[in-house]
Amino acid sequence: MAVAAADAGQFDFDVIVVGAGIMGSCAAHAAASRGAGARVLLLERFDLLHHLGSSHGASRTIRDAYAKPHYPPMVRLARRLWADAEAQSAHRVLTPAPQLTIAPPDDVSMLAAADNSGARTVHDLATRWGGAFRCIPDGWIAAVSDINGGGVLNATKSVAMFQALAVKAGAVVRDNTEVVGIAAMNGGGVVVTTGSGEAFRGAKCVVTVGAWTRRLVNAVSGVDLPIQPLHMLVLYWKIKPGHERDLTAGGDGDDGGFPTFSSYGDSHVYGTPSLELPGLIKINYDDGPPCDPDAGDRIASSDDVAEGRVARWIEEFMPDHVDTAGGAVVRQPCMYSMTPDKDFVIDFLGGEFGDDVVVGAGFSGHGFKMGPAVGRILAEMAMDGVARTAAEAGVELRHFRISRFEGNPMGNGK
Ligand SMILES: Cc1cc2nc3c(=O)[nH]c(=O)nc-3n(C[C@H](O)[C@H](O)[C@H](O)COP(=O)(O)OP(=O)(O)OC[C@H]3O[C@@H](n4cnc5c(N)ncnc54)[C@H](O)[C@@H]3O)c2cc1C
Repeated sequence: MAVAAADAGQFDFDVIVVGAGIMGSCAAHAAASRGAGARVLLLERFDLLHHLGSSHGASRTIRDAYAKPHYPPMVRLARRLWADAEAQSAHRVLTPAPQLTIAPPDDVSMLAAADNSGARTVHDLATRWGGAFRCIPDGWIAAVSDINGGGVLNATKSVAMFQALAVKAGAVVRDNTEVVGIAAMNGGGVVVTTGSGEAFRGAKCVVTVGAWTRRLVNAVSGVDLPIQPLHMLVLYWKIKPGHERDLTAGGDGDDGGFPTFSSYGDSHVYGTPSLELPGLIKINYDDGPPCDPDAGDRIASSDDVAEGRVARWIEEFMPDHVDTAGGAVVRQPCMYSMTPDKDFVIDFLGGEFGDDVVVGAGFSGHGFKMGPAVGRILAEMAMDGVARTAAEAGVELRHFRISRFEGNPMGNGK
């Protein structure tokens, strides 16, 4: 049901968004941008743009290649909204790049995903991009999209962009404000309480607290969402002298510069073109151990395992271009919020909250690219009870319901 103007005096805000990563920042922007002056509050526990969650750093891949058919419509919606936000803010956060998928022949789903995204099989991989990918195992297949099939998003700059747009649209943004309680009000609406004892009355609430979701949602509602924080490492490696231009986004290489890439098989290794740190390239391992989001130690002993796997992959696939001697030269911790099926959670919390609280979480290491679409969906669900934009874009929200976890034990991996 739409937030009625007659309700306005009863609440401090029409929508209170908890958590200012990419999802909360996009949701706050989408809610505040609605006509009729919606009053929006965005609350963040730490400093804005902090590095303790999942949305910091200089690069996230955006790609159309998805094996699950419910994601490409959301990526397409997000691409449109990324472009709108760039135009509105006069910032550039997306650098287009081709997307390269490398997979063993039995990985039919990834190859179909690449195919669905318009990628073409390449037979001359060994000579592209200065011969960066020297060889792939016999029988493996490589497919590359055109320059619009992939891209690199500057993560921290994107979050800052949406927060600035939200403020410009009238949202109030408060950092260093931890939400410790969300309680249903008689007759509808919620009271959101903070660690310093403040209380805000909201007609609706959007919860986007990333790796802290299970803890907060359980504390306020008793609902146990199987969302497991994983400790991940962002690794940057030194490019061997003379090959810097081969690995650069939009550089001199074929097809619009060096691609974002995903390599499947025993390990899923992925990377982005050299962009944010000249002379270095980001190549990561797509897995990590369970972690406590509040643990002080941000570097785990298991990090050596991830780094070793990436080093072995580099030695097999890119030995002439990337230097593994001495290991990665930059290591940045980050967290995934994994669900057992790697699908997102985008749903009403239900129970005593009914449709007054919407949860957006469990983005399972692949949500950033869809941030503006998720934010729009969460805002529409909160304010209208239904995500009209998602329906028009062909996004099927049934895949993201909380009810799919009923009877499903906590999953610890991917
Ligand atoms: C290493 C790495 C690489 C990735 N690569 C890609 C990629 O290439 N492409 C892609 O699409 N995605 C990628 N992802 C995933 C993507 O970054 C995440 O899905 C996305 O950032 C999740 O955003 P979020 O807003 O849900 O969580 P977060 O960014 O963690 O935001 C949650 C916020 O809530 C705040 N918060 C928590 N509790 C409270 C509270 N009680 N009160 C107030 N505030 C609170 C936190 O401080 C935090 O700021 C990657 C993630 C990682 C870690």
